[in-house]
Amino acid sequence: MPRLSQVRVGTTPLPTAADLAHVLGLFREAEALTRADVMRLSGLSRSTVNQRIDALLTAELVRPAGGQSIARGRPPERFAFNSNRGVLLVADMGATSLRTGLCDLSGKVLAEHEQAIDLTQGPEALLTLIRTAFVELLIDAALEPTSVLGIGLDVPGPVDFARGQVVSPPIMNGWDGFDIRAWFGHHFTCPVLVENDVNAMAWGEHQTIYPDVTELFMLKLGTGIGAGLVTRNRIFRGADGAAGDIGHYYASPPDDAPVPQCRCGRLGCVEAYAGGWALVRDLNEAGIPTANVGEAVQLLRSGDLTAVRLARRSGRIVGEAIAQAVSLFNPRVIVLAGQLAAAEEHLIAGIREVVYQRSLPLATGNLQIRRSELADRAGLIGLALQLADTIFAGPEVELLVAASDSTRPSEYARSQPQVTHSG
Ligand SMILES: [Zn+2]
Repeated sequence: MPRLSQVRVGTTPLPTAADLAHVLGLFREAEALTRADVMRLSGLSRSTVNQRIDALLTAELVRPAGGQSIARGRPPERFAFNSNRGVLLVADMGATSLRTGLCDLSGKVLAEHEQAIDLTQGPEALLTLIRTAFVELLIDAALEPTSVLGIGLDVPGPVDFARGQVVSPPIMNGWDGFDIRAWFGHHFTCPVLVENDVNAMAWGEHQTIYPDVTELFMLKLGTGIGAGLVTRNRIFRGADGAAGDIGHYYASPPDDAPVPQCRCGRLGCVEAYAGGWALVRDLNEAGIPTANVGEAVQLLRSGDLTAVRLARRSGRIVGEAIAQAVSLFNPRVIVLAGQLAAAEEHLIAGIREVVYQRSLPLATGNLQIRRSELADRAGLIGLALQLADTIFAGPEVELLVAASDSTRPSEYARSQPQVTHSG
């Protein structure tokens, strides 16, 4: 099959990937558009707009928008992005649990599954677990693997985003440099995106709840502590993808107790005082048997005095770290997520107190500190939205258009993918 850019019909060259992505982008941002809307928004001529919309209709990336009459055989005039053109498979991997989801192309979660995992099992075992969960999601939705347009995975560790690899993760044995894309490539032909867990959450929260906020800071308080920053509609990764590693800031010792060792091997990290794993350690040392973060959260909810005292101390230590981040980045919104953030007020009260005390009035005057609205789904939604952005930014659009039969009339309705909406 010739590439589109090599084919010419009449005097108008067939659109390139970037041309198609440009027009598709307009539809992805709007509910529905007419051809005239697209001309106005793009500045393109009528014939060029018609050609690009027709190509997108043929590829079923754009569909006639509903709610209008198609009287006397005239074509519908309004068009919308077809978020059911395919599906995305996403996996949000925490330190102790794995959440997998089937999403449409607008980031809506159609079906999801959660299971406990042991992160020490290594990449082969865990990726196999993820693939099995993906296959089950597809079978339940009666979908073929060919309907999957992208796969996204987020992990609780530093990620080299361009290479799609985890780099020297403190708690993910065997993952350093593991070729995740190549592994999925044996089973799926679609693009694979690998992201840090908190970056994915920050993106999900920003794009759905705070799209107009230019600087958003996301903090995950779970077994570990991590942060993600969205600035000017982009995830801020830093030069090597290591930005936001706030859990491993050095924290001033709050008392005379020995400086604790962190999971990363260093002494006195924020996480070594205030992470969920540190809370579990301290509760056990205080004579309160606690198996995991979930049990620690239960103790907090029941008002256990030792747990509350430890959580307040954690809140102040995390607050110090966030105050430094506030001074550096001046975010408008700080979103708190993770098992600990969702569970209790004591920690959040401590964070608020220190952040407002330690940061400049100019930085805190309009600062909001909020709990995550997407909660457990923030990672899945963020991954799906990022995947869609990646897929529809260029070459993949051209492949989808080229794969569609150009001689076929754009009667979209005959062959919609069979995606089942679960509400
Ligand atoms: Zn550390």
